[in-house]
Amino acid sequence: MKTRVIQDVPELGRDDASSLDGRGATSPPRSTEKEPNMGAVAVPAPIAVDAPFTGPVVSAEDLTRRYGDGDTAVDALRGVSLDVTKGALTAVMGPSGSGKSTLMHILAGLDQPTGGTVTLAGTAITGLNDNALTKLRRRHIGFIFQFFNLLPMLNAEENIVLPLMIAGEKPDKAWVDELIKSIGLDSRRSHRPSELSGGQQQRVAIGRALVSRPTIMFADEPTGNLDSKTSDEILALMRNSVDGYGQTTVMVTHDARAAAIADRILFLADGVIVRDLGRSDAREVIGVMEELAR
Ligand code: ADP
Repeated sequence: MKTRVIQDVPELGRDDASSLDGRGATSPPRSTEKEPNMGAVAVPAPIAVDAPFTGPVVSAEDLTRRYGDGDTAVDALRGVSLDVTKGALTAVMGPSGSGKSTLMHILAGLDQPTGGTVTLAGTAITGLNDNALTKLRRRHIGFIFQFFNLLPMLNAEENIVLPLMIAGEKPDKAWVDELIKSIGLDSRRSHRPSELSGGQQQRVAIGRALVSRPTIMFADEPTGNLDSKTSDEILALMRNSVDGYGQTTVMVTHDARAAAIADRILFLADGVIVRDLGRSDAREVIGVMEELAR
């Protein structure tokens, strides 16, 4: 069954959907540079969401991943087990080479583990063939990437609805309008990626990830290509998609400020989870990273 988290949120759509970025539908003037100053990015009060935190959306059991074999084999994951909690934002942190991307790719069904199992929305995905995995990803997963990965020949709105088009679904106009307003792109709908700033392109990518109301959204270094102010804006949008839409999210990041918006922070080192923290500020996150580097 396709999870339609947002349908359980009657508050959405009443006015301006309590704009995801908390500043209404007004967009900044077009710019190919940085986003205009929005001031401190205020995270609006959460909208009530039905029954968040009700069990794992993704479960991994004793995952291992070995690249290559013989003398040159690399054990990128060496026994990772975790449950991703519904309606929460989980950050995965760790030094370069600790296995973050490998873990995310396996949780998202983009790569198969060498050992262990992954269950996504109640389906055991390890061992599914490519066709079945593609269908499952379409139904359940939204992605945000560091380099946005938008199609240059499509405008912002076309990029946002692309996952629905690919799935052969007719976009729900009211929902698409609401979403575009909530990510602050109402006046940028017909702009192509090359006519948008980096922050605006990442907003498009967030819209594309959310448009199918995925069971889970994976974000791979979503602020890795943005300046710090634009990063804060994108992080506020992501946080608000969790608070407002109950959007379960897993974010891989190097950035302590990004991890500080998470409900839970998993630290990987050498292919194992070495720390599992609740909400923490950037200073605490940096402290753990320093400790792990010793
Ligand atoms: P992170 O995302 O934390 O930087 P990765 O998951 O990318 O870590 O990599 C974990 C380990 O696996 C690293 O030692 C990396 O060099 C190795 N690795 C990743 N991808 C491959 C690959 N395709 N072939 C061989 N080794 C790889």
